[in-house]
Amino acid sequence: MILVSACLLGHKVKYDGGENGQPLLLRYAARGQFLPVCPESAAKLPVPRPPVELQGGTGEAVLAGRAVVRDTEGADRTAAFRRGAKSVLAVAKRYQAQIAILKENSPSCGVHQVYDGTFCRRKIDGQGVAAAQLAAAGLRLYSEKDLTEELLLALLAEDQAADERLVDRKSVV
Ligand code: SF4
Repeated sequence: MILVSACLLGHKVKYDGGENGQPLLLRYAARGQFLPVCPESAAKLPVPRPPVELQGGTGEAVLAGRAVVRDTEGADRTAAFRRGAKSVLAVAKRYQAQIAILKENSPSCGVHQVYDGTFCRRKIDGQGVAAAQLAAAGLRLYSEKDLTEELLLALLAEDQAADERLVDRKSVV
């Protein structure tokens, strides 16, 4: 299975109650190889909720306890974001997922860039909290901005081959 940010598959889980449905992913969703995940929903954060940004560092620093997650009202959401990241990692392990396609710039899911913590729409290089957790566990991450149809088809084929190897191994045992 390929982990995909649920909002990219049209789930209305964004902080403002919306979604980020991505046409290419939606076109291939019927193949049944995408596993929708939303770290913030997994942490039981409500929809809608105030937007948050990472302050003092990116996702890796949040996991290491060197940065925090704060919303526009000043509430500290660090614990919830770490919890959500762990939940998504547990799902990845359960399904032996090797690949994740995640929403760029999100404080949870951002793959290449996140907002800088000032709520001024400025971006910095680095990953969101859940993305950093998955990357540390060895998953290969892509954002929706990396995707071409050619790349997505290659990822789907790779995922299918990995699943077939798993089934073969189980039938030998
Ligand atoms: Fe989408 Fe990730 Fe934000 Fe959930 S946490 S709404 S999946 S970007």
